[in-house]
Order: sequence, then structure tokens, then C-alpha cells
Amino acid sequence: MEKRSGNMATAADSVATPKKARTALRRAPAPKEEPGHEAVAGEEPTTLDVTLLAPDALECPLCSAPFEAAIFQCNNGHAACRDCCDRVRGTCPSCRAPTGAIRCRPLERAIAAMLFPCAFSAAGCERRLRISEKRAHEAAFCQHAPCACPVPGCAYAGLSLHDHIRDAHQGNGDGDDGAAVGFVREAMVTLHRSMVFRVLLQMSDSRGFLLANSGNVPSGRSLSLLSLGPRPDGDGALEFTMVVRAGGETGGALSLSAFGPVPCARRWAGPEHLPAEGFLFVPDAYWSSSGSVSVTVHVGAEVGRGAAHGRSPRNR
Ligand SMILES: [Zn+2]
Ligand SMILES: [Zn+2]
Ligand SMILES: [Zn+2]
Ligand SMILES: [Zn+2]
Repeated sequence: MEKRSGNMATAADSVATPKKARTALRRAPAPKEEPGHEAVAGEEPTTLDVTLLAPDALECPLCSAPFEAAIFQCNNGHAACRDCCDRVRGTCPSCRAPTGAIRCRPLERAIAAMLFPCAFSAAGCERRLRISEKRAHEAAFCQHAPCACPVPGCAYAGLSLHDHIRDAHQGNGDGDDGAAVGFVREAMVTLHRSMVFRVLLQMSDSRGFLLANSGNVPSGRSLSLLSLGPRPDGDGALEFTMVVRAGGETGGALSLSAFGPVPCARRWAGPEHLPAEGFLFVPDAYWSSSGSVSVTVHVGAEVGRGAAHGRSPRNR
């Protein structure tokens, strides 16, 4: 009888087999952490449900930040994150032994294999995430994280920013230039040079947008669009088209346009923080003698990633 595995099947086999078997057993399907994370019916779960009585055991003892990637230890086993090793210049503050060279792999491995609840679980987020995904989820994707109102002097931060703006910053009708503007498919607003932003409220899916007007460019202004809230769940990105028509005597003869993905943020960084790309420069000549332009903004779902020209008019 010929063994195909050749020299793999040697005397060492008798030693390797029990170990292999155990490994194989432990490798059986792990539940998925992504939506639902339900285990496959009929299969033995291979996860270990533990209760951590001291959550600070998973934090850097020096800076109290959660351990994420590299964890180091000194010769006496005192742990520290990479930033702290740099900050203490390679000397353990507990015992003065050198630190920053020895990785604490078992702890790194244990943390990498854990699922953590989202920081906004109390607000209703049920996602459980790997440490490597947790920060991005909480910063950009979590649909249960509070969003801050951009209106100066307003301290609102919550889960209903759209409704808050609609109710609290509705303005006094047509005469109020600063009022939030509601729209369904397309928003048309008059923008004055002096306005730092206008808020656009998309009624159809309760999203708020900020049309920001930044003055930190010579001989004109630059307009950009920001979605006030988390990034849409799943793969879908939002894409905008913005058309600016010159105000005053020239009427609609002069126009400029831009399109691209809409950045999303839960807090507006302010008028001096222009996005790196995707803004529309509006030269001085476009602004009417009274200092205004007409801006039309369309926002829709982008089809596929990076498909700048693939915008589809369907999708709501
Ligand atoms: Zn640290
Ligand atoms: Zn030490
Ligand atoms: Zn979340
Ligand atoms: Zn507000």
C-alpha cells in the first residue's frame, strides 16, 4: 500500500496526530461577527464566552487606552502600548527595565480574537466588532452614535440631528437666509458670500447636509458638501452634484459644477477645514453685486465603489 503523503507519514506522525486533531476541532466554524453573527445550526460552537471582571486588563496601564495592535512588555512583564513605549523612551516606568523591544504576543493574539461591543451599545447598537474594526465603526459607520449640530451656539448632539435642525433652526420663512432648507431630490439655495454654511435637509431619508462656504482661498470662495451623520450602512456611498449659477445681471449664463462622493462626519470641523478634494471653487466674478450665487445640490446613492460616472438617477 502506497502512502501518498510520502515522508510526511513518518514516526513523527504518532506524536503529531493528537495535536492535529485538537487543532482541527478548535478550528470548526467560528461564528461570523458581521450582522447577526448567528452560528450555523447543528454545529458545535467553538467560541468561548467569557466575562471580563476587570475590563482595564485589556487597556494599556500607562495611558488607559484600549490595547489595539502591538503590545510590548519589559523584562519583568509590565505591558505598554507602542505610543507609551515611545513616550517613556524605552524605560519601563514601573521597574526602570528597558521596554519597547519585546512583544506580548499571547495578549495581542487574545485581543485580536475577541469581539467587543460597540461603544454606542447603550444607544442601541448591537454590533460586536474586532478591535481592528471598532474604532472606524464608532467614528464613521455606527448608526447609533450622536451627531453634533453645526449651528454656532447650539449644543445639541444626538441621534435625531435631522429632526432637531428642522424643529430648532427652521428660521422664519423666506426672509430668513440662514434657515435650513428642506429638499427631496434636489436643493436650490441662494448663498451669500458672507454665509459660512447652509443646512440642507433631505426629507426622504432624514439626512442633513452642510453646504459649507469657505473663504480661505484668494479671489473667490470654495463650496463643499458634507453629510452630517454616519456613513450609510453597508457599501453604498452618497454622491453629490453641485451646480453654481452666477447671480445678478449675467443670470444663468455662467455656471460651474462639481460632483463626487459626499464625505460624512458626525461633527463639522468648521469653515477652515476644507475637504482635500471635492470642493468647488467659485471665483469672485460669479458672485452678484449683492454678493450671492444660486446653488443647486443633488444627492443620490452611488452605484458601486469608485464609479464616479456611474451615478444612477434611480435609487429613491
Ligand atoms: Zn499606552
Ligand atoms: Zn517593568
Ligand atoms: Zn455601533
Ligand atoms: Zn442645533
